[in-house]
Amino acid sequence: MLISKSNYVSYHQCPKQFYLEKHNKDVSLFSMSLKRRIRMGNDVGLLAKSMFSGIKEVDYGESKAMSKKTKSLIDLKVPYISEAAFYINDLFCAVDILQVQDQGLIIYEVKSSSKIKKDYYKDLAFQTHVIQAAGYKVLDAFVIYVNKNYVREDQIDLNSFFIIESVLDQLDNHLLHVKKDVDKMRAMDEEPEFSPVSHCSNCSFNHYCYQDMPKDSIFNLYGFRASKAYHDGMRNFQDLLDNQVSLTIKQKRQIDHFYLDQAMYIDHLSLFDFLNQMIYPLYFLDFETLDFVIPNFKGSKVNQRLPYQASIHYLNQNHSQLIHEDILVLPDQDPRERMIDFLIKNLGVKGHIMVYNQSFEKSIIKDLANQYPQYKKALLDINQRIIDLYDVFKEGMVYMKEFEGSFSIKSVYPALCQSDSYEKLDQVHHGVEAMEGLERLSHLQGEEQGKLIKDLKAYCRLDTLSMVQIYVKLLELING
Ligand code: SF4
Repeated sequence: MLISKSNYVSYHQCPKQFYLEKHNKDVSLFSMSLKRRIRMGNDVGLLAKSMFSGIKEVDYGESKAMSKKTKSLIDLKVPYISEAAFYINDLFCAVDILQVQDQGLIIYEVKSSSKIKKDYYKDLAFQTHVIQAAGYKVLDAFVIYVNKNYVREDQIDLNSFFIIESVLDQLDNHLLHVKKDVDKMRAMDEEPEFSPVSHCSNCSFNHYCYQDMPKDSIFNLYGFRASKAYHDGMRNFQDLLDNQVSLTIKQKRQIDHFYLDQAMYIDHLSLFDFLNQMIYPLYFLDFETLDFVIPNFKGSKVNQRLPYQASIHYLNQNHSQLIHEDILVLPDQDPRERMIDFLIKNLGVKGHIMVYNQSFEKSIIKDLANQYPQYKKALLDINQRIIDLYDVFKEGMVYMKEFEGSFSIKSVYPALCQSDSYEKLDQVHHGVEAMEGLERLSHLQGEEQGKLIKDLKAYCRLDTLSMVQIYVKLLELING
């Protein structure tokens, strides 16, 4: 069995993941966000390679052919080789960037992350093992990763954008295990039992492993760290009760509603206080954003979420006027100044601004304020007026069985307002589809682009309209 460096890392993240990659790859499902991360990783890889002058790439192909080509480039003393491949004993690795020196080889592993993760040691230990087995000396091993504090100037300054750090000293212990690990991987002859790990949320087999979880699975309990309980043999809510596991009030409420079919829970006093603080007119605000590891505009940061789309609903005191405004900026343009202008024009200077999960909106506005000092005061004043509608549900003021432990607007709105409006949307139904749609806009033209813009706007509009309707519903609950 051929084992690659990604197989080796995969095995350490989860043995079942490795087994499925080798024996049942068809059941993998790369979510849109996973695919996007892979695309951004490839962009970072290309940028890193541009730092090494005279670099030659080994074309992707059959393992033996790639390693043969690599050997010839090493023999020719080409200073830097990308995708330098080594194949021996049915082990294979393609090094992102290999530096060739008279005394031996230096490995560079490129990552789009902004910190060194434990997986990287496994990755580099495996590469070192294979290269040594192929008869070369490894002089050093570096991780090239992204400086999270980097702010773009006119051009990307590669020396400031990347951090290059030697990890050779940390590999010794990992190197000792490679051979034994590989033997264990080769000896796996049946699919391991499901055993949840922290990597599950980033795994392309997540859908496969979690598809048959019942509604009362411990994985569906709000804010509950299910892995430990799962490893202790518990599977559903009843198991938690039987084992007298310590639960929060909100978790107990979710379980009671599930088993006892209870009516909607309302903490009247807290809900009254929440609603009573509102200062009219009310605004309801939502952004759709794109983030890029490589900042694409002057003054923008690594991984900054840039607001390309916003929707605002305005509601007056006696609810006789509901006005909608929106903006959408194409993804190849810098949206920041246009967004600032839109916010300042449409959010007035008085009245609360309702959002759903305020840390998201507030951080976007704060970044804009820091990057455009001339608007700083106006933007920070907007942040001061923000109220979080999510608090009503997160703080347990209202609960319905239909929420099923999730307080996202996509769970709360259909249940509370008896609406299937999200389902009726055409191309865009949730945030990840909105991101994907926004990115796709720059590749479309004419009617197709127009249709997608319409669908993106309809989605963002519904995000604020649903907040208005939730708010009105909450008032009804209190006022009877
Ligand atoms: S979803 Fe979790 S348990 Fe399943 S293969 Fe992936 S990491 Fe392993």
